[in-house]
Amino acid sequence: MGHFNIAIDGPAGAGKSTIAKLAASRLGFVYVDTGAMYRTMALYFLRLGIKAEDEKAVEAACRDVDVTIRYEDGAQQVILNGENVSGLIRTEEVGNMASAVSVYMPVRTKLVELQQRLAREADVIMDGRDIGTCVLPDAPVKIYLTASVEVRAMRRCRELQEKGIPCCLEDIETDIADRDYRDMHREHSPLKQAEDAVIIDSSRMTIQEVVERIIFEARERGLEA
Ligand code: C5P
Repeated sequence: MGHFNIAIDGPAGAGKSTIAKLAASRLGFVYVDTGAMYRTMALYFLRLGIKAEDEKAVEAACRDVDVTIRYEDGAQQVILNGENVSGLIRTEEVGNMASAVSVYMPVRTKLVELQQRLAREADVIMDGRDIGTCVLPDAPVKIYLTASVEVRAMRRCRELQEKGIPCCLEDIETDIADRDYRDMHREHSPLKQAEDAVIIDSSRMTIQEVVERIIFEARERGLEA
């Protein structure tokens, strides 16, 4: 029997991962965080001292890298050449590198294969930038989750402060706007809403409201209670 997949796309900081995690646990689905996979690749290139502009070096390094995931207590862990690097990928440096190198096809091909395999093996809620358009074009539920740049920057700042990391709201806003631009204007698999996606603007919604809305959409499209 085929699996029921939910695709969630949207810009950085829209709340995709928080919401997808909660919806997954409510529905008993597996949550797949594809951004974490791009971040893992980015960490690998940073460790090798490869510059984001050096497409040839990125391409060559892609041949030797192995990115996989596993779950510990329901939480996705990313494994880079055998090492669990989940605790090392959440910095702005890694996020910006991920955005810069995700424009290259060899990086995407490798990760899309892994993502499609995971969706064949289980009911998944997968979040990213190209899930509804490229990775799971046949997913019965596609959500495009967005929020204003100001709201997203505020959320990111709060998140960093909670971890004790100082942050400058203006810098975060600029970073987010740059990242949006790059993600939306790249040649391969740019961030855009799939034609059949439901758009949810979370700027003035609570997390719970967004989760309920996604569950409602899934039931509407045939997911049994
Ligand atoms: O979502 P997150 O901020 O962790 O993603 C980091 C970067 O990885 C994004 O800015 C984007 O450039 C890239 N990405 C992508 N395709 C995905 C998920 C993430 O290109 N499906």
